[in-house]
Amino acid sequence: MRKLIHSVAYIDEQGNTIERGHVIINDERIEHIASGDAVEGAQGFAEVIDGAGHLLLPGLVNAHGHAAMSLLRGFADDLPLQTWLSELIWPAEDLLTPEDIAVGTNLAMLEMMETGTTTFTDMYFAMDRVAEAVIAAGMRGVLGRGMVAPGGKAEATLAESRAFIRDYHLAGEGRIHTTWAPHAPYTCSADFLKKVIAEAEALNAPIQIHVSETKREVDDSYEQYGVSPVQWLSDLGLFDLPTIAAHCVHVDEGDIALMRTKNVHVAHNPGSNLKLGSGVAPLVALLDAGVRVGVGTDGASSNNKLDMMEELRLVAMLHKGVNRSATAIDALTALRLVTSASAQALFLEPGLGTLQKGAPADLILVETTGPRYFPRHNLLSHLVYSSHAGDVTDVFVAGKQLYKNRQHVTIDKERILADAERVRAKFQPVKDRYRLK
Ligand SMILES: [Zn+2]
Repeated sequence: MRKLIHSVAYIDEQGNTIERGHVIINDERIEHIASGDAVEGAQGFAEVIDGAGHLLLPGLVNAHGHAAMSLLRGFADDLPLQTWLSELIWPAEDLLTPEDIAVGTNLAMLEMMETGTTTFTDMYFAMDRVAEAVIAAGMRGVLGRGMVAPGGKAEATLAESRAFIRDYHLAGEGRIHTTWAPHAPYTCSADFLKKVIAEAEALNAPIQIHVSETKREVDDSYEQYGVSPVQWLSDLGLFDLPTIAAHCVHVDEGDIALMRTKNVHVAHNPGSNLKLGSGVAPLVALLDAGVRVGVGTDGASSNNKLDMMEELRLVAMLHKGVNRSATAIDALTALRLVTSASAQALFLEPGLGTLQKGAPADLILVETTGPRYFPRHNLLSHLVYSSHAGDVTDVFVAGKQLYKNRQHVTIDKERILADAERVRAKFQPVKDRYRLK
């Protein structure tokens, strides 16, 4: 089935704005994209969409997150990471049923689609329910069963991960990708990580893991193992397998050089790292070293948004401030970081996150009729520095429209919001317990 979007602006691979162009979608891929009007006119298409007043972009790719933690948005804020996790988040998560996780995943997908995301990463539990929700919603997902060990359920979670990868890799017409997801070096023992490595070697799927998120984690690692978390994971052999390391806030020159040598990919989460007071990852140093980096939101309990349009602006702004250099991350680099670079960081197919011919038709339309897009000096600049996620009007994944004129096509929004409110009630005792301490 072929679709035409015409009279639409887009930004080409070099960062030039094409004020009026068209794109032809053939089933799940981009068949053709060019400036001007389609040679064939509007005939012969199953659907013709007038893109006037809109900017066409590749869908945004969220390289790190925990979707169902949307249920814990605003549940506990303004606390140090360890207190936040052990006193509130983990006890609350213990109460979640697989059904609740499906609700939370849908809540997250509603927000992600409304803010222009087409692919997201998830590290959580009840992943079969997550995958089924993603398949039904039509999004693209990179999903892994989060594992913490030692702990009573270590072996069970390993078996669950194995079954999940076998059952769901490339499910949903290839939209589901699976990963191994040991939580972090400080929550997984060496013995357990060695088991994960052996499993991952046998069942080829990338590993996603939190690494060097806080200074305390790094200090503890030196105390316990005499080396940094990056070095420790490398010594274990984890980086001999395709790895997505989330955060990498506290990495030094030696760590960065090692990550480059081992081709470790990084998921940078500027919003979450700021809110939890973890610090700012050395993005410029990582990119200069040639490390592949994508951008993510992390969970909604630590961000608290799942808004990649906001991360786009943040990634362009934050590193200018930290490096005291207005040229640190330019607008085109920032746009690539939240699209094609994120897709590559997640080991997804080349072309995903671009507008190239033959690429998956994961596309969004951003309305550019508001005052923040005028005068039209530079649409790329407006997108990165002055846009707003509410300007996203339409979302396509694999050529299928999931969000149309700001209306969801695949998820019943009212029902999910009501379900989320029902789940909220069960967290109250955890809060009360914390207050009584
Ligand atoms: Zn995380």
